[in-house]
Amino acid sequence: LCRRCLNRIRKTRHLNAYITVTEELALKQAEEAEVRLLRGVGVLDGIPFAVKDNFCTENIRTTCASRMLRDYIPPYNATVVQRLLDQGAVLMGKTNMDEFAMGSGSTDGVFGPARNPWSYAAPYREQAGGAEEDSDWVIAGGSSGGSGASVTSLTSFLALGSDTGGSTRNPGALCGAVALKPTYGLLSRHGLIPLVNSMDVPGILTRSTSDAAIVLDVLQGRDLKDSTTVQSPTSHTGLTEDFDVRNLCVGIPEEYHAPGLSPETLAQWSRLADLLEGAGARVRRVSLPHTRHSIVCYHVLCCAEVASNMARFDGLEFGHRSTVDSSTEAMYAASRHEGFNDVVRGRILCGNFFLLKQNYERYFLKAQQVRRLIAEDFRRVFSAGVDVLLTPTTLSDATRYSHFIEEDNRTRSSQEDIFTQPANIAGLPAVSVPTALSSRGLPIGLQLIGPAFQDQKLLNVAHWIE
Ligand code: GLN
Repeated sequence: LCRRCLNRIRKTRHLNAYITVTEELALKQAEEAEVRLLRGVGVLDGIPFAVKDNFCTENIRTTCASRMLRDYIPPYNATVVQRLLDQGAVLMGKTNMDEFAMGSGSTDGVFGPARNPWSYAAPYREQAGGAEEDSDWVIAGGSSGGSGASVTSLTSFLALGSDTGGSTRNPGALCGAVALKPTYGLLSRHGLIPLVNSMDVPGILTRSTSDAAIVLDVLQGRDLKDSTTVQSPTSHTGLTEDFDVRNLCVGIPEEYHAPGLSPETLAQWSRLADLLEGAGARVRRVSLPHTRHSIVCYHVLCCAEVASNMARFDGLEFGHRSTVDSSTEAMYAASRHEGFNDVVRGRILCGNFFLLKQNYERYFLKAQQVRRLIAEDFRRVFSAGVDVLLTPTTLSDATRYSHFIEEDNRTRSSQEDIFTQPANIAGLPAVSVPTALSSRGLPIGLQLIGPAFQDQKLLNVAHWIE
């Protein structure tokens, strides 16, 4: 199995899904797994997996797709990586992403953009009517685009992404994978290079909901190295095969009928709501009135946390160091200027602005208050009896790369996250499931959002949809 995945990685090099392929190590691990398999040691013995390049991996370089960390080799494994290895899973490599996970396209990393495997599949090629393969490929989504592409190009069975504002669900939807963003605190962030500590969660990308349930089981739970982790109050015992949607109340948030939502995604959303209703679920319209503030609120909080997180990259202890050495300050400045792309630098500047003494209350504290209101919207709807919310994951199917890079980067990536960010702001679990192919022959994903720690129930509903 591992050898086949490694072969496929070679054949799908053009996708640029991997930054580092750990072939030698993988073959060694696979051999060990063969022995373990006979004794039935771990639930994932011999299962090939991939990891986004912002999770630390012992003795394997971890770049965050940035010049800053181009040669950084961590001395330890992130907890989630270690838990997969402990269960016998075999690491294929580290996947491509936007620099420091800032973006929604996996187009901004220093190793070049990741491509969506569907760009080369028959349904898309047929409608492209024999056009040049190399000019019309579509983005893999982001920022965990390499992980999404790795799962759907069949070079891994599961991949880790990170999700701060949608970075696991977005590529999941665009590449046609199941993508779970667990409840904040259910999975350890130890060893995940932070973007926004108060919103980051490790995400799980798989080919099916039942695979996602198995992986969730392996990864979830308290970790002494991350004080925000908790033991799940509900037990995770995999999917319920006879899960009954008749007892389910599904909410359709009015505010998610957002400008820019494509007619086909809207049609899928309605079709799924009708399907659930037809099967006996109660489907009702609900309101999350503060949704419209979530993008701005996310932006302020994200930049503020980025400004403080990125301070550790000063060119001294680790990471890129400039040759400019006229003074310590000049060396700091040059290292950071050379090491970060303009998206990262832009966010650091904005964050420092929001955190200035005279701006702190006006921006940062205000955004914290809005954050509470957004979380409160969800709480109200769930305590009024709604079990899950059904929404689109992205505005449309995947965009062509040539089109994606035309528009202004920062505005684009923030708008792209309109359906996914609120769950991060509120810390809630959410899953994106592939539901259909668009008329362009590209996947369309829908999202389910649930109350905190109802991750397994979400997967059950997702399984029904799947
Ligand atoms: N696109 C969002 C951003 O650029 C979300 C990123 C993420 O979830 N890592 O911040």
